[in-house]
Amino acid sequence: MPSLQSVISCLSDYDPSALPVAQANRIIADVVEPVSGIEQVAIRAALDRVLAEDVVSPLDVPAHDNSAMDGYAFASAALQAASGGEVTLRVIGTALAGEAHGLVPAAGEAVRIMTGAVMPAGCDTVIPQEFTQRVAQGAGETAGDTAGETVRFAADAVRAGDNRRLRGEDLARGKPALKQGRVLQPADLGLLASLGIAEVKVRRRLRVAFFSTGDELRSIGEPLDAGCVYDSNRYTLHGMLRRLHVDLIDMGVVRDDPAALEAALRSACENADAVITSGGVSVGEADYTRQIMAELGDVTFWKIAMRPGRPMAFGRIASNGHQALLFGLPGNPVAVMVTFYHFVRAALHRMMGADIAPPPLMRVRSAQAIRKKPGRTEYQRGILARGADGQWEVRITGQQGSGVLRSMSEANCFIVLGHEQGGVAAGDPVEVMLFEGLL
Ligand code: AMP
Ligand code: MG
Repeated sequence: MPSLQSVISCLSDYDPSALPVAQANRIIADVVEPVSGIEQVAIRAALDRVLAEDVVSPLDVPAHDNSAMDGYAFASAALQAASGGEVTLRVIGTALAGEAHGLVPAAGEAVRIMTGAVMPAGCDTVIPQEFTQRVAQGAGETAGDTAGETVRFAADAVRAGDNRRLRGEDLARGKPALKQGRVLQPADLGLLASLGIAEVKVRRRLRVAFFSTGDELRSIGEPLDAGCVYDSNRYTLHGMLRRLHVDLIDMGVVRDDPAALEAALRSACENADAVITSGGVSVGEADYTRQIMAELGDVTFWKIAMRPGRPMAFGRIASNGHQALLFGLPGNPVAVMVTFYHFVRAALHRMMGADIAPPPLMRVRSAQAIRKKPGRTEYQRGILARGADGQWEVRITGQQGSGVLRSMSEANCFIVLGHEQGGVAAGDPVEVMLFEGLL
């Protein structure tokens, strides 16, 4: 693994006291590597897990050319022969889904066919039954028994090759059906089942330890002494981490005490792949968090050019031969969430070996003026909704203080105001990142 120092020393314009968001993310991406460890699981248990190797299709899906409609299968030469007029074909039998019918129509003949049934040899086209007229021969129509009747339809009601599903059009034998790094979704489980695959190799789950620091923090159930606050960060972190399907080690609240902090960081490091703390990393903080973090490893302290979420510690700590990635997040509840989504999430995905595209940004109009200075990235909390004219527009969720957790709770998106961007006038376009899919 590359050291933080070696990554940072390659940057010409590195300024840890005003680090742009993009540069922080580049450094993190360069330092973080996927963990090793693979396990084999049944496909139902593979939902949300990261595929550890490509799955190559062992068969063609579908296995045969088959009909996409209920109708009549025939060779498209009959269409050219009719040259725009009517086609009349003799029906030689019925092809049902799931049977090897073996019907082989000759020129001038068709096979009544059901959706999913194997296309008869020589046939390339299906005329849906609603475009046809059946003409019974002899004693009228008998349901089920089609042999002996004829079917008639306009030659322009269908084109050659219509309503035929080709063998292997869904998945071709020998081709990768799913790529390693894929976080398995419901459709993927079905796709694996369609290949008859019962188990897949996935990356082992990531273990993430987290705790809160600060003498003012109280846990639920404890009395709230004067000047104290309940620890909320551990709960938002629990929720955000659960959505990433990692194994959690919740280490509670750790006092601002060097021995307690060192013990907690060492234990976290020895039991987890990544450690996330909140609080105690701001400059001028009268506590020991920074000092202990620095003593335990290769850790750097940043002031990121962003709002909220300015102070952050990042690096790697070591204890008794174990290593772990460290994210020291700010203490303020909104800053914790913003830094998690914009730095930690992608880093953890990378550690899991998950191949996940960055969340898409949508460009919509701002319903109001927004004040913003160039030189930092802002993640204001927004509510995206349709305006009076039916167009999507976004407004801010009231107070944007980094301690106002209600702003996250009420919002359904971040309004992402880029590093160089200045203020926004009402009606101007802005970029938003939806919480749905992110949270
Ligand atoms: P700090 O970064 O430690 O200076 O904390 C900044 C602010 O966030 C202070 O007002 C803290 O009381 C508050 N804070 C820190 N940790 C937590 C937490 N776990 N839950 C709620 N508020 C917190
Ligand atoms: Mg503190």
